[in-house]
Amino acid sequence: MKKLVIASNNAGKLREFQHMLVPLGIEVITQAQLGIGEAEEPHCTFIENALAKARHASRLSGLPALADDSGICVTALGGAPGVYSARYAGDSPKSDQANNDKLMRDMRGVTDRRAHYYCVLVLVRHADDPQPVIAEGEWHGEIAHEERGDGGFGYDPMFWLPELGKMSSELTHDQKHAISHRGRAMKVLLQRLSAA
Ligand code: IMP
Repeated sequence: MKKLVIASNNAGKLREFQHMLVPLGIEVITQAQLGIGEAEEPHCTFIENALAKARHASRLSGLPALADDSGICVTALGGAPGVYSARYAGDSPKSDQANNDKLMRDMRGVTDRRAHYYCVLVLVRHADDPQPVIAEGEWHGEIAHEERGDGGFGYDPMFWLPELGKMSSELTHDQKHAISHRGRAMKVLLQRLSAA
């Protein structure tokens, strides 16, 4: 696979995919570069949304497409915001800062700070691919009491990694990819692709 459309308009994810795939000699094109708009994400599971995004980008581009559906799941909030992470504080417009502010408010006074990121990657070779390549990854940590760091994106300034003593926003690209939900899922996806 030499050329892939990334079925996302999220700048943070696009940066991470470029960082992971370009060194492998894979040409990465964003759906926005091809004038493809965002797919609907009407489903209540990550996998259904990822499949919908990958099919949409592949159908409109005629190219293999890779989609990511991901989010942060907070134990004390029953797994919220989960699949709704990108629009936790609303979607007009979607805002990382508004989402972080809402999560900080919702976690005020909560002692159980456990949370994990989840990512499912779906790669379709064409829009009707009956055997999409699928891989998942999780990354466990805690919701901090205040924001810190300016790396990463989304909820990273409040995702605390006790074993490293850092926020995920304080990791370099390489450090994040080695252990993150997306990095782990990508490792599995690449293994599955090379075995296929
Ligand atoms: P999606 O585009 O519907 O998959 O939304 C994913 C959302 O989950 C993002 O907008 C972020 O809010 C959050 N998210 C997923 N992965 C990360 C990450 O690596 N760091 C921070 N936030 C993330």
